[in-house]
Amino acid sequence: MVEDPVGVEAALMAAGAAAQNGANLVEWRVDPLCEDEAGFCACRTLIEQSPLPCILTCRIQEEGGQAFGIEPDRPGLFRSLVTAGVVPRYVDVESAAWRSDRELRIAAGELLGAGECGLILSSHDFEGRPADLARQLDVMWAEDDVSIVKMAWRARSIRDSLEAFDLVEDAGGPMIAICMDRFGVMTRVLTGKFGGLLTFASPGSDQETAPGQLSLQQLRDTYRFDAITSSTRVFGVLGDPVEHSRSPLLHNTGFSHVGFDGVMVPMPVVDGWESFKASLACMLDHETLNLSGLAVTTPHKEHLARFVEEVGGTLTPMVHRCGAANTLAVLPDGSLVADNTDTEGVLAPLRGVMPIKDSKIALLGAGGAARGAAIGLLMEGAEVVVFNRSEDRAMELVKDVKSRMDDAVSIEYQSGGPQADEGFDAVINMTTLGMEGGPGPDRSPLDELGGSLDVLSDTVVVFDAVYAPLQTPLIKQACDRGAKVLTGDAMFLAQAARQFRTWTGQDAPMDAWASLMR
Ligand code: NAP
Repeated sequence: MVEDPVGVEAALMAAGAAAQNGANLVEWRVDPLCEDEAGFCACRTLIEQSPLPCILTCRIQEEGGQAFGIEPDRPGLFRSLVTAGVVPRYVDVESAAWRSDRELRIAAGELLGAGECGLILSSHDFEGRPADLARQLDVMWAEDDVSIVKMAWRARSIRDSLEAFDLVEDAGGPMIAICMDRFGVMTRVLTGKFGGLLTFASPGSDQETAPGQLSLQQLRDTYRFDAITSSTRVFGVLGDPVEHSRSPLLHNTGFSHVGFDGVMVPMPVVDGWESFKASLACMLDHETLNLSGLAVTTPHKEHLARFVEEVGGTLTPMVHRCGAANTLAVLPDGSLVADNTDTEGVLAPLRGVMPIKDSKIALLGAGGAARGAAIGLLMEGAEVVVFNRSEDRAMELVKDVKSRMDDAVSIEYQSGGPQADEGFDAVINMTTLGMEGGPGPDRSPLDELGGSLDVLSDTVVVFDAVYAPLQTPLIKQACDRGAKVLTGDAMFLAQAARQFRTWTGQDAPMDAWASLMR
């Protein structure tokens, strides 16, 4: 987006950098320049000096343009380009404007005839899927001059994205189909898998020109866009929210390390069994999506276990125990396996620093993560004492966990916080205290629950599930008192490593992952 003529030089430099970082084409969004000769002159410079073949787009306000306060003079701009003999590789005109504005059509026709310039006919709907989508497409493809058809709409669920893939696959010519906003991110990443012509990326973060647009760096580094082909297997991180999940970065980096042809994309699905069931069923039914696995997060872990059980898939013993799953594997014959790697995320790091059997653990928190941890710890023979702000929830957790375990297990709720004379071998934080953006980023759960700092000594392990930041108030207290510490990245990496092995059959590159987390 070039805001005014003064910005031309910086825009050319940004495009040059994008070319070096793998862009193949640059779209000059000149919405605010399409008014007078100074703006037209800036457009000519952009096209002439463009480091890559370019698309020229002056988007009108009704379709998301940013030419506030001016009525764009597109015929004037196109004629000034023809006169100067400066022709972009493509010019983008909205289909509605093309049909309704005769003067625009004539001027654009002159531009198309002045050199190797193709017409992109486009349609954008910022409310949702256009009701007459099929008719709009027919109208666009029927235009004699059209080279490329572009259809973009605001997705209301990830099912819209699947329709965008179908449009591209069934198109009679080069097509761009994009779903905007968070439910459409996968259309921006996976377009190459379905034969879409291109995807748009911003030159940097905070420079996007449409909702949900990714940066060039994200497309290249997080999603390895250029490596995605029709045979690439698709994985998702499914939950709500998932926009800031680190799973795509970790798994995509891992896939690249071990030479596995896969890509993980965010798949936001709003809370509720019905939305989960409908979204997953559509993805599994989609013939060419080739969904191979999911990392499922809040609020759908119980839903995943239920879905796989209802369709006759396999639940691992840990899923049976926890009643929740965070991993789906779709086997080559289409059958489903649900696993729960969250407990392993707690157990694997702990095993590395202490014997779990017969140890006494203070578990702070009674949410979903605490429940999985409690079950895992009890299965390994630990004694667990739960401390939590809300007594009811903690009592419920104890009751639920006891009902799920076959053997007599040692788990109880205790009010207040852990005290020094109780002989704890480890303190595990499974509350959201200490978490950036959480209820108390500067607060330690030990202080909040009324525990004693003397619990923390050099014979005690302190494990904090919070991983943003790694140095939480609790971890700092533990370090000050000489305790052994495990930070939240250890848990995140351990559970992800087991997912990775399930999907690829290979070990995750733990060193590379650890440095990504840092
Ligand atoms: P959750 O179900 O929402 O449970 C939140 C817990 O935090 C509850 O025990 C809640 O107590 C407690 N809590 C919230 N605000 C509090 C406050 N102001 N004072 C005292 N206690 C408070 O969350 P979750 O899914 O179990 O996740 C818990 C933590 O684990 C999160 O920080 C999450 O990021 C982390 N986690 C990390 C990983 C990893 O891989 N490292 C994986 C999963 C989860 P009440 O019952 O009284 O509300």
